[in-house]
Amino acid sequence: MKNFLIVGGGIAGCSLAYQLAQKGCQITVFDTGNNVSTKVAGGVMIPLVFRRMTKSWRVDDFLPYAKQFYGELEATSNQKILYPMALRRFFSSNQERNYWLTRQNTPEFSTYMNEVNEEDETCFPYANKFGSGRVKECYRVDAEWMTTALLNHTQITVVNQRFDYSALDATTAIYQQKTYDCVVFCEGYESISNPWFSYLNIDPTKGEVLTVKTTGLSNTEVLNRKCSAAPIGNSMYKIGATYEWHTANTTVSEKGKNELLEHLACLTDQPVEVLDQVAGIRPTTVDRRPLMGLHPEFNKLAVFNGLGAKGFLLAPLLSKEMCAYLLEGKDLDKECVLQRIKV
Ligand SMILES: Cc1cc2nc3c(=O)[nH]c(=O)nc-3n(C[C@H](O)[C@H](O)[C@H](O)COP(=O)(O)OP(=O)(O)OC[C@H]3O[C@@H](n4cnc5c(N)ncnc54)[C@H](O)[C@@H]3O)c2cc1C
Repeated sequence: MKNFLIVGGGIAGCSLAYQLAQKGCQITVFDTGNNVSTKVAGGVMIPLVFRRMTKSWRVDDFLPYAKQFYGELEATSNQKILYPMALRRFFSSNQERNYWLTRQNTPEFSTYMNEVNEEDETCFPYANKFGSGRVKECYRVDAEWMTTALLNHTQITVVNQRFDYSALDATTAIYQQKTYDCVVFCEGYESISNPWFSYLNIDPTKGEVLTVKTTGLSNTEVLNRKCSAAPIGNSMYKIGATYEWHTANTTVSEKGKNELLEHLACLTDQPVEVLDQVAGIRPTTVDRRPLMGLHPEFNKLAVFNGLGAKGFLLAPLLSKEMCAYLLEGKDLDKECVLQRIKV
């Protein structure tokens, strides 16, 4: 039986731990308990990229597998984790609207786009200058239950401690007198201080989210234009999120709040009361592709990181692919391999 140490209990570390445990491996997960990405995120899976109205990277592979993965997790944990979500995108220009209209009936896009109808043209007149489209196949994942369910596996032991880099022998993978077959680093943005993988240059992208109370938004649909307004009941909404590149602090800011309120003004002209504000950090990469593989020199050290703004959609299938790479030597997706980055 193989023995893995995983550093990081966000969605990357938890999903990989689970996949390896399902294959009979023994897993120890070290996590500080101070998560600033997975547990801050909206947990939303959206199949489209609205700017040019294209499909999200490998969505035809990622989404069906993610649904199956979270669905199985619901069944084994007896806990609701995956929620279908209605999402309405307000077109930001005639060009965007035309992209939608020309794609909505094509085989490639009809899985993800409803045909625009009269109501889509006229509902929410405040935001509706160019009309709107209803996205199919959107989901929200409950991050708290998802991580709890993934780690609640008989083969997984969780250690609530900071992993001490100086205590690891990188050649033998011996840590605190215990020998591992492999140590996999899934530290999110904190990999910037990892002595073996900091060369990968994870670029931290701060994101802020508001909880607000207001009227004039939908109780049943997430509305999207410049920001997303997701109903959470009792006229309350989660408004997200900002993108502040190259920033690794989790302090909430007036700037972030004002930006979100300005964007929200595109969706409603009603008064807004801010109830809460949080900030997190996405582990982003320069080419917007994940980072997966063994270290070029130390073959008992590996990394699974760089999930950027799409961890909930990508992690299920990529963790399966990472597991097959580690256990069976299968190739990784060419766009994710470490060889693309100079040491
Ligand atoms: C505001 C915001 C909104 C987002 N919304 C969405 C969304 O709607 N949909 C979506 O798919 N994605 C969203 N994301 C992105 C998503 O959150 C990330 O892609 C994903 O959470 C990254 O997961 P991760 O496991 O790589 O990193 P993390 O969740 O950051 O986990 C890393 C873990 O490693 C631990 N760690 C680090 N170093 C050590 C160490 N030395 N020892 C022990 N433990 C360590 C940390 O404590 C942490 O728990 C959002 C992100 C933000 C910030």
